[in-house]
This record gives sequence, structure tokens and C-alpha cells, in this order.
Amino acid sequence: MRKLIAGNWKMHGLRTDRGELDAMLAGLPDGVDVGVFPPLTLLAEFAVRAGTRMIVGAQDVAPGMFGAHTGEVSATMLADAGARAVIVGHSERRAYQGETDLIVRAKAEAAREQGLLAIVCVGETEAERDAGNAVATVVAQLAGSLPRGGGVAYAVAYEPVWAVGSGRTPDPDQICEMHAAIRAIVGGATRILYGGSVKPPNAADILAVPNVDGALVGGASLKAAEFLTIAAAGSRA
Ligand code: PEP
Repeated sequence: MRKLIAGNWKMHGLRTDRGELDAMLAGLPDGVDVGVFPPLTLLAEFAVRAGTRMIVGAQDVAPGMFGAHTGEVSATMLADAGARAVIVGHSERRAYQGETDLIVRAKAEAAREQGLLAIVCVGETEAERDAGNAVATVVAQLAGSLPRGGGVAYAVAYEPVWAVGSGRTPDPDQICEMHAAIRAIVGGATRILYGGSVKPPNAADILAVPNVDGALVGGASLKAAEFLTIAAAGSRA
């Protein structure tokens, strides 16, 4: 399956950073899909600049479409702004905004309703891994978070909480075991991304692990040079 390399900019990026996007667009490798998930303030502009060359997406979405929900942005609005995808259930939102599996599923279903690819994030804490419960934790999250019904356009991002932003990554064997467990649930057509401290030096090894169909990249997606190196690893994998 063609790999997807997705860059989550989190709460980083001002209009002056549009040069990074332009540098990414200028250096995109062939044979790989590349996406960028900037803050909402940049989304519409990035979508216009990227056109069809790169996927531009949002980092979150409301579970509903319209209404009295101050501060929320719906899937309808994201699609209207040019988004083609959205990250749902990132571990930071699960931890700091208290998002439950039920909320994540509602968001993924809202995204699907508007034709957006939902990237559903799951992952265990370090304590859960140390207790031998990593796979069981992720399987339970998937059971609660994945959109229901047919015609589902979603991807899964396996992001161990302890690897996000920490500079630590699981062993290839651990990634392999988890991705195989996820594959057994989502089937062969759904992309399973790995996320958590993917950097230029480790990208090729991670992307070579069976059932790793791409990467969700945080810190290393902010600068075009680093991100393009990871994208190039995706095109070769
Ligand atoms: C992320 O934000 O999803 C992420 C994986 O971050 P980092 O690559 O910085 O660990």
C-alpha cells in the first residue's frame, strides 16, 4: 500500500511559516502521499496553496455539524475550508480535553459524513505497556473509537503515549506486534500509521516494519527539510 506521511503541527505555525509549506510542496517525492495538519488559522490558506499535491487537514473536529457550540468547528466547516482529512482522538486531546472513545467515534463519524479522512489515534501509556496490557488497551480503544457502518474512510494512527514528543520509540518488534493486532481488526484496505518520535534517522526502519502504512509526525514535521527526508523514506519503503 502507498504510504501516507502526515505532519501534525499541533499549536505551532504562524502565517510567516507558510514558507515551510512552500518548501515541502517544492520537494515532494513521488510515490508517497504527504499531508500536513496545521493550526486552524492556516488551514484554508494551506489548502489553496497545496491544491491536490498535498493533503491538508485539521487536528480536531466537532462531533456535530452546526449549532450553539462556541469555539467548535464542524466537519462541514473544515471541508468548506478545503480540508481533506482530520486527526481525531490524539492522545493530547484524550489527556487534556478528556476525550473519550465515544467522543472520538462521534468525531470520526462526523468527518466521514463530510467525506474527510479521519485519522483515528490510539495508543497505550507506559504504565499500560509495563503491565503487559498494551495490545489489549489499543484493541479496546479501537472497539470504542472507530466509526461504525460501511463505506468507512478512515486511517488508524498507533501512537504510544510514552513515545509522543519524548524522543523514545518502541522496538520494531513491538510496533510489528501492535500493527498486526490492529490489522486483524481494520482489514487490509485501511492504512495503519505509526506515530511517536518519528525522525529522519529512524523513519526508514519504522516504515519498513510490516503493516506500517505511513507515519504521523509531530515535531519533525515543522521544518520542510526534516519532513521531506521522512517523506522520502516513505516513498522508498
Ligand atoms: C504527534 O504529534 O502525533 C507526534 C507523534 O509527535 P512527535 O512526532 O513529536 O512525537
